[in-house]
Amino acid sequence: MTNLPAALRSELESSVPFSTLALEREQEARDGTVKALFLTRDGRPVEAVLMRYRDGRRSLCLSSQSGCPLTCTFCATGQMRFGRNLTASEILDQALHFRRLGPVDHAVFMGMGEPMLNLDAVLEAARSLPDVGITWRRSTISTVGWLPGLRRFVDEVEEPIRLALSLHAPTDELRSELMPVNERYPLADVLDECHRYFGLRRRKVFVEYVLLRGVNDRVEQARALAGLLDRKIFKVNLIPYNPTGMFEGSSRKAVAAFKDVLDRARLPATVRLTRGRDISAACGQLAAET
Ligand code: SAH
Repeated sequence: MTNLPAALRSELESSVPFSTLALEREQEARDGTVKALFLTRDGRPVEAVLMRYRDGRRSLCLSSQSGCPLTCTFCATGQMRFGRNLTASEILDQALHFRRLGPVDHAVFMGMGEPMLNLDAVLEAARSLPDVGITWRRSTISTVGWLPGLRRFVDEVEEPIRLALSLHAPTDELRSELMPVNERYPLADVLDECHRYFGLRRRKVFVEYVLLRGVNDRVEQARALAGLLDRKIFKVNLIPYNPTGMFEGSSRKAVAAFKDVLDRARLPATVRLTRGRDISAACGQLAAET
């Protein structure tokens, strides 16, 4: 931009800063996954991840909050201190950072934080993602089932942005043990809201289910899950547990047996490819240490 006078350039630089986030550290995993740690202007840590897949897909995992006020037992983010909601610019600047390295085509709001607790900023950022090259259909907002936000999402979001629900257990009893938020917003109410979403928008809901050894990975639990979820409405994504302390991951055999039950029930199910575990960039491992 040397066609602008120097004085104007320096004024622009201070009043229209390049990014709301300062890059603090960047790490690359053996599988090509990149994790970036940023600091907001007021010094809050925020992490975001770029996943590069063999088929050429470039997927971003974005954070909606610095830390998370919820305390899901298997997730490292809940163990760090909650900072605050991020602004729409702070969310979008995570995407812009990686966009500068090369084209990106998918985004998931599965980084730090609960998107439905910060829905306005998340939607503002998500609605702008096409400017970065990511269509709405390739953008997914994930929630624990925080009902006030989820209801608004169902009623207000007309763009084909995808919805994912972190379920992780087929009964209230177990789900409340794993995710205290279930005490407040129990399974039946959250699933009802997903049904309403499908009725209104005709879009399926992705269900995330982290497999924890001996906790939620038994075949009876797979059967219960298949009984709970309408296969016309839900698609299940089984997630191998990434170590964060409390639990152990399911064996490959247990994962296969669990999936087999869902397959037989003809409930669509896939097993998520684990990325970036060696740099703690995988699902549930974001807990910035600064
Ligand atoms: N708060 C939202 C957005 C974060 S998404 C939500 O929970 O949906 C992060 C996803 O990774 C969630 O499905 C979460 O349950 C999952 N996850 C958390 N800890 C994990 C771990 N240790 N291993 C694998 N997946 C984990």
